[in-house]
Amino acid sequence: MAESNFIHDFIDEDIASGKTKTVHTRFPPEPNGYLHIGHCKALVIDFGTAQKYGGLCNLRMDDTNPAKEDTEFVDAIKEDIHWLGFDWGDRFYYGSDYFARTYELAEDLIKKGDAYVCELSPEEFKEYRGDLTHPAVSPWRDRPAEESLDLFHRMRDGEFPEGKYTLRAKIDLASGNFNMRDPVLYRIRYIEHHRQGTKWCVFPMYDFAHPIQDALEGITHSLCSLEYEDHRPLYNWVIEHCDVPSKPRQIEFARLNITNTVLSKRYLRGLVETGVVDGWDDPRMPTLCGLRRRGYTPEAILDFIGRIGVSKANSMVNIGLLEHCVRSELNLKAPRRIAVMNPIKVVVDNFPADKTEYFPVPNNPNDPEAGTRDVPFTRELWIDADDFAEVPPPKFFRLKPGGEVRLMSSYIIRCGEIVKNPDGTVKEIHATADLETGTGVPTDRKVKGTIHWLSADYAVDTEAILYDRLFTEENMNDLPEGKTYQDYLNPDSAVRMPNAKIEPSLKDSKPGETFQFVRIGYFTRDTKNSGVFGRVVSLKDNYKPEA
Ligand code: ATP
Ligand code: MG
Repeated sequence: MAESNFIHDFIDEDIASGKTKTVHTRFPPEPNGYLHIGHCKALVIDFGTAQKYGGLCNLRMDDTNPAKEDTEFVDAIKEDIHWLGFDWGDRFYYGSDYFARTYELAEDLIKKGDAYVCELSPEEFKEYRGDLTHPAVSPWRDRPAEESLDLFHRMRDGEFPEGKYTLRAKIDLASGNFNMRDPVLYRIRYIEHHRQGTKWCVFPMYDFAHPIQDALEGITHSLCSLEYEDHRPLYNWVIEHCDVPSKPRQIEFARLNITNTVLSKRYLRGLVETGVVDGWDDPRMPTLCGLRRRGYTPEAILDFIGRIGVSKANSMVNIGLLEHCVRSELNLKAPRRIAVMNPIKVVVDNFPADKTEYFPVPNNPNDPEAGTRDVPFTRELWIDADDFAEVPPPKFFRLKPGGEVRLMSSYIIRCGEIVKNPDGTVKEIHATADLETGTGVPTDRKVKGTIHWLSADYAVDTEAILYDRLFTEENMNDLPEGKTYQDYLNPDSAVRMPNAKIEPSLKDSKPGETFQFVRIGYFTRDTKNSGVFGRVVSLKDNYKPEA
């Protein structure tokens, strides 16, 4: 992240004014799901900003909320961040580790008259909130400090049911910012905390806990997404009114939204739990583990994040840009191999049945040093069903009755008899090769089409899955009334090709290795199911950057 952005401008200001000498950021994921590509933007901003200024970035599990955190998620989050290439060193923390100190700071606020115990029910609380023209009403605001302190202790000791009391900050009931209308700081919850067990039955609200956690860790710049902008006055209030060792500055940036997908853990969990996808790491998921399994590389993802930039205005980024980034990278790096998705047989009648001939095929036309490999040719071949048309449309330059086509890196063949199955489908196509036209034989023969092929004797069976976008609708954040994401699932997001064939050299390829299947797309051998090659991205780039 060498380029400058408005966050760096703010930090430069703070350095110039002497407010800070160093830069210390944090990435605070809530361990209630897997990281998605939206988090990558935050990661790049948090870790990248620290890197740029030679500073530090902490990893803090935001487990302030006692519900549903899980070590499965904690481990996955760490793995994903490392995979992207970021490291927090020994600065790994849990928000809940600060519960004791946070509680003490709340006691201090009560003693100073800056907080009080309120006994409005949640319904009353809403009713008393007021509106733009009417201030909130808070009947317990002037409760004496000793009484509030006593109630707060008894809240902690488990004397009261959930919802009976809350601790509220005494700020401004008439504020135009509702977050400042005496916000709740603590509430009673009888839920076991994944790390604290049943030690606590009062839990701080995020708006109170987060600034304290930042300050206790010496964070200088607390970078977060735009939905916290209206919470910044409260963040600053907490920092100013609590006895904390540093004064972090909150700066907000726009969340990343991408077309044809959802970037919210809640929705992503829904997809997993309803079985729409087969797990958080389903290759169609925008999670980091899903993208990794799909065959995306950290380089491609970071390239994407770099291109979208850091802005202060929310926007929707076309998923085509992400696909473009991975395609560009794989175009340079991925070795070329031959695969046939939907095979039909071609019998080359004038080629001896017991002969194998080898043709050298380039491993990567973009990289002459990648060399060639020998691909076996025999009398019986597989070609892709798409490359043959019995009744060809205009300008069809592939195989058609009576026509000629170049077999890639090999002979020109002429289509002969077409043998059918009883159901009318094509059983096999007979052809004659022009045996003068193999590689290396200079020829001025002109043939318009070139198709790929595999020897039926040597090809290896596999299953291929053509992955595509999960949703048909671009803006999944703004669905019409009454519709849910279930209404926009792309029925073709994972098209199975159970009869696919691959060239023999792929037999020893490893899960996670990525190839270009020539004329088809980029594919990777699935890390969970090594009998499957999944499509990373198609070859065709439909993405047009907006002018
Ligand atoms: P979700 O809505 O997916 O649950 P979240 O904000 O609750 O997202 P956290 O685990 O709390 O998820 O996020 C950790 C950090 O990542 C936060 O600082 C948050 O602002 C940031 N973040 C989350 N989603 C995005 C996004 N789409 N774009 C940019 N930053 C994001
Ligand atoms: Mg969150």
